[in-house]
Amino acid sequence: MTEVKPDVIINDRINKIHNQIPAQVNLVAVSKYTTTEAIRAAYAAGVRDFGESRVQDAKLKQTELADLEDITWHMIGSLQSNKARQAIAKFDWIHSIDRLSLAEQCDRIIAELGKSPKLLLQVKLAEDPTKSGWSEAELIADLPQLKKLANLDIVGLMTILPIGLDDEQAYSVFSRVGDLAEKLRSQGWVNIHELSMGMSADYAIAVKAGATMIRVGNQIFSGYSHQN
Ligand SMILES: *Cc1c(COP(=O)(O)O)cnc(C)c1O
Repeated sequence: MTEVKPDVIINDRINKIHNQIPAQVNLVAVSKYTTTEAIRAAYAAGVRDFGESRVQDAKLKQTELADLEDITWHMIGSLQSNKARQAIAKFDWIHSIDRLSLAEQCDRIIAELGKSPKLLLQVKLAEDPTKSGWSEAELIADLPQLKKLANLDIVGLMTILPIGLDDEQAYSVFSRVGDLAEKLRSQGWVNIHELSMGMSADYAIAVKAGATMIRVGNQIFSGYSHQN
């Protein structure tokens, strides 16, 4: 089988997504399973935001793509404590701050490194034993401590839906994330304005519910994974 070059196909897929979302919604192309060749194709199609879920993989890709200087790198995967320092050093955004201990650790490291990525708090508003993140009650309980972490540039919330929700349920959960952000703003967290939610299967619903950033992997890069 002849291999199709990624350029044209990836360009078409990206255009299709852009045609479905308002211009102010930021598309983060999730490149965790794909090649640097495919990332270059997405870059050529105008994408500047790329999402990775493992620090080690991201570092390799960043080295290979060092000539593309204006890429914004997003850490979207769950972050082990022993990787926090590298994540802060290597990423412009971290979407997956999912516990107070990690936030506290990031606060110390950011003070040391003098580099402050934008951070999103990962919330989990539908029951899902496979995902981490604050419930609304847990987050409200941790707010006083989070507020003390003066080095953190917390700009919004991120969520991942459990699998198996229908469209209506998905819309409902996404909307509740937006409601929670609004509640936080009304309590003085004025910077909580970004909502990172929606993936290949559900980004259209997420955008309807107020997403400001969507994280799309498969729908851009399927067929161009490391393995084939
Ligand atoms: C892999 C991943 C995505 C992208 O998922 P697709 O279904 O490939 O679009 C988005 N967000 C997170 C946190 C991920 O781990």
